[in-house]
Amino acid sequence: MINILRLVPVIFLSAAMVGCSPNAGNSIAESEQNEPVKPVPISSNPTQAIVDKVINGYGGVAFAELETFTIKSDLRYGWLGQGQYADYTDLEPMRKLYHFDLKKGWGSEEAWGGGGSYAERIFTTDEGQYTVNFLNKTWELDEEADLYQHFGGEIRTLDVLLAYDLMKHRETAEMKGSMMFRGVRHDLVTYDMPGTSVDPEVWINSESGHISKMRRPIPDYAVISYVFGNHTSADGITYADDFELYFDDKLIEYAKSVKLNVGGVIDSIWQVNGAIQPKPETNTSEEMVVDHISGPVYYAGQGAGWGAFVDAGDYIIGIGAYGNISERFAAFQTSQDIKKPLRYLVATHHHSDHLEGVPQALELGAKIIAPEMARSNLEEAIDRPLGAKEFLFLTENTESFGPVKLYLISTGHAPEYLLPYVESERIIIDEDHYGAQIADRASWVSTNMMTLISEVQRLGLQPEYLINTHGRKVEKWSDIMSMAEQHIPGLCPTGREICRDLIK
Ligand SMILES: [Zn+2]
Repeated sequence: MINILRLVPVIFLSAAMVGCSPNAGNSIAESEQNEPVKPVPISSNPTQAIVDKVINGYGGVAFAELETFTIKSDLRYGWLGQGQYADYTDLEPMRKLYHFDLKKGWGSEEAWGGGGSYAERIFTTDEGQYTVNFLNKTWELDEEADLYQHFGGEIRTLDVLLAYDLMKHRETAEMKGSMMFRGVRHDLVTYDMPGTSVDPEVWINSESGHISKMRRPIPDYAVISYVFGNHTSADGITYADDFELYFDDKLIEYAKSVKLNVGGVIDSIWQVNGAIQPKPETNTSEEMVVDHISGPVYYAGQGAGWGAFVDAGDYIIGIGAYGNISERFAAFQTSQDIKKPLRYLVATHHHSDHLEGVPQALELGAKIIAPEMARSNLEEAIDRPLGAKEFLFLTENTESFGPVKLYLISTGHAPEYLLPYVESERIIIDEDHYGAQIADRASWVSTNMMTLISEVQRLGLQPEYLINTHGRKVEKWSDIMSMAEQHIPGLCPTGREICRDLIK
């Protein structure tokens, strides 16, 4: 799963939970009343006056001089188009722990989610962006990345950071009028946010200076709306305890609670920790390459987008409907000097990121084989009703297409999943259960992968190798099984505080 959605959360039920005053959204919490805000002076320029009002709304001088703070967010988070079922986006628990040093422009985010299948920490310093993967026990540094590469999305989901970013880039602010929202007049301001071509339109409560909402219309995609509410304060700094994120009219994320504390950022935050080794080389390729794996099985792709081609004699069967399939198929034909038609393309499951190649495959004349559950997402992928002759929905438990056997199974990743197995070569072609990305050893085996392994065993298959459409590596099944023996069941495989907290 690719987390393009890591953008914004919203808040709507925590007023009662944290005992805030009933006029949530506009209120200043008690602690702030006890310690009066020392305001910054208001500019005579009307647009700059709004920015000053925001600064005062978030803590005045204390906010303008804020250096370090931490935030804990308890979120419910949806993977649009990549949920358990095709009919709706299920919102699953996601915890985030942030550390920021605003003066240095550094940020750290540890995220835990997906029932323990997602556990990483990303932090950005002057050296670049570090990514620590607690499951694979690896880290890597991207020296090219600045703060906004990862934290641009996080800044948009945390109003206190958004207010700070607006203050920092206040010279680019422009007034866009005003509007009533939740019964209160709001000033609409845009500014030039680094790291994105779609600048935010920020809705600022004219009375309190709090940010209630932000909008970003992404062309040909969706209007992304970020809604903030239930403003509260800690250590003299105001922040929204409620957050909701919408793609058009779909709620895809919300915060059950947000908790901010000033300070608490120790030096070790800016170091790699947690029994981690530098990420070994991956053997992926940024250029399009074609590998002959074994017998009739070929593999083509680049970056994180790969697919298999199996020579069935008179025709070719494609496996994996990741985007850009026509380029992969052309590279396969040219490099192998095989000029046979692509008769079938297997779409293993309903997730939208694995259906983007379907329109191109249809243009190549292929028939798409998919599980029934993929029907509605396929329709979305081609943007029209499905032609009866273009699609084949597998209803039998198993069916053979040339050398490829397809098994209709149910796994933790997708309740209906087509498992492709090339029996003559004893190769499984996997999408999304196993991340075969480390060159010199096997990767962590997730709970989802454990469910695939148990299906393989139930079916009595004897695989020798597995290839995965998100990477180039051919993994030995015996190495995967060794990793499976080390699998830690349950919600907290890493033992990190971020998930231990939740279980307590
Ligand atoms: Zn998937």
